[in-house]
Amino acid sequence: MNSGSGKPVMVIGGGIAGLTAAVELADAGCAVILVEKSAGLGGRVARMHQYFPKLCPPACGLEMHFRRLRGNAAITVLTLAELTSVSGSPGDYEAAVTVRPRCVTESCTLCGECAKVCPAEREDDYNYGLAKTRAAYLPHGMTYPALYAIDRTACPANCRACVDACRYGAIRLDEQPEVRRYSVSAIIAATGWKPYDASRLDHLGYGRCRNVVTNVMLERMAATDGPTAGRILRPSDGKEPRTVAFVQCAGSRDENHLPYCSAACCAASIKHAAYIRALYPETAITIFYIDIRTPGRLEEFYARASKDTNIRLIKGKVAEVAESPTGDLLVTAEDALANRKSTMQFELVVLATGIVPQTDGLPEGFRRDEFGFLNVPNRNGGLLAAGCVRRPAEVSFSVQDATGAALKALQCANRSVSHGR
Ligand SMILES: Cc1cc2nc3c(=O)[nH]c(=O)nc-3n(C[C@H](O)[C@H](O)[C@H](O)COP(=O)(O)OP(=O)(O)OC[C@H]3O[C@@H](n4cnc5c(N)ncnc54)[C@H](O)[C@@H]3O)c2cc1C
Repeated sequence: MNSGSGKPVMVIGGGIAGLTAAVELADAGCAVILVEKSAGLGGRVARMHQYFPKLCPPACGLEMHFRRLRGNAAITVLTLAELTSVSGSPGDYEAAVTVRPRCVTESCTLCGECAKVCPAEREDDYNYGLAKTRAAYLPHGMTYPALYAIDRTACPANCRACVDACRYGAIRLDEQPEVRRYSVSAIIAATGWKPYDASRLDHLGYGRCRNVVTNVMLERMAATDGPTAGRILRPSDGKEPRTVAFVQCAGSRDENHLPYCSAACCAASIKHAAYIRALYPETAITIFYIDIRTPGRLEEFYARASKDTNIRLIKGKVAEVAESPTGDLLVTAEDALANRKSTMQFELVVLATGIVPQTDGLPEGFRRDEFGFLNVPNRNGGLLAAGCVRRPAEVSFSVQDATGAALKALQCANRSVSHGR
């Protein structure tokens, strides 16, 4: 069975929200085209060490979705792909998708010989710039589809080292970008979020002080498949930090940066404090916050952390972060409850940077609110949004939101059938 109109639904973004929408639609009998711009599915969740509040590995949730996706004839997965134009009306859209070449075919066995012989490097976006990969790279350990990719923009001229090394004939360096056109009944944008650019927060020292990192970087350091193999280390000297400060609302709730609350950062910093406590039980942690926002079941997660005598919570804004000659950080902050301002020394500072909606390249038909989120009510429309691109939120909300968007897409498809489109 299809969505009634015979036309599939297109889902843009293969993070947890897009994956949820795709598998729920397919379960309801609807064909789906899932469009992901990177080389593998999983989105930001795949880059996490653990999820709050249960602190389980992201593989838990993602693998379940990948299992539902694998071999599901109703879902067409396009990676390295982006929606480049859309026209039409609810129930009857024409969508053009540009697919960049992977240069690696299904014959890939993940043997990794191509990466071993590859002489070229590229920035590793997956590790937020903390590492590099070869031009022949595996997106990540649980990547879907399980295939290497070749980043041709990083290849030296006339190099064919990977082709010669591949015993399975899986590499096609002459592949070209291609535009595919689809007739679809509705489109769900689940393009997620990106971290706020910390270099715009000059007073907090990112880029100026060597041992100031962001929350997403810390997430990768904690991950065993990350650039430091699971050890949280000071960038300047590779030392295990004995004192760590977290600066909450780094950009969020600030008229000059992101006027809204990014919703996930308080719980994320409490989770990060738990990573550090587990790795280095002696390390003292200080969290500077404006308000701790951990609604619903996250309240218990916060309550547990606040009982830990190695975690100090200070209600106050950080005015400045400066670097001492040893690489330590001097953090000047107010303590609003004690009504005083002081300067404290730490070995590592983590900025809890906020969530920015990821809407680059999406056609104008997806309506933005005043903060850039796709959160404008669209009662009978077929251009829908789900997950963090609609509202900053944790995974459970993103999953529920995507399920709701899948229902709206089905209603749109069915309405168009009854109107004979
Ligand atoms: C520091 C931090 C830690 C967090 N930790 C937790 C946690 O422990 N537990 C929890 O519940 N929540 C956590 N969150 C929140 C969680 O990251 C989000 O809820 C989740 O990532 C939302 O999923 P999503 O699919 O909406 O977006 P994303 O994960 O951002 O996925 C979006 C996908 O869309 C793709 N995409 C983007 N643009 C395009 C395009 N134009 N075309 C095609 N594809 C595109 C991207 O490549 C990506 O694969 C955390 C947030 C932060 C900031």
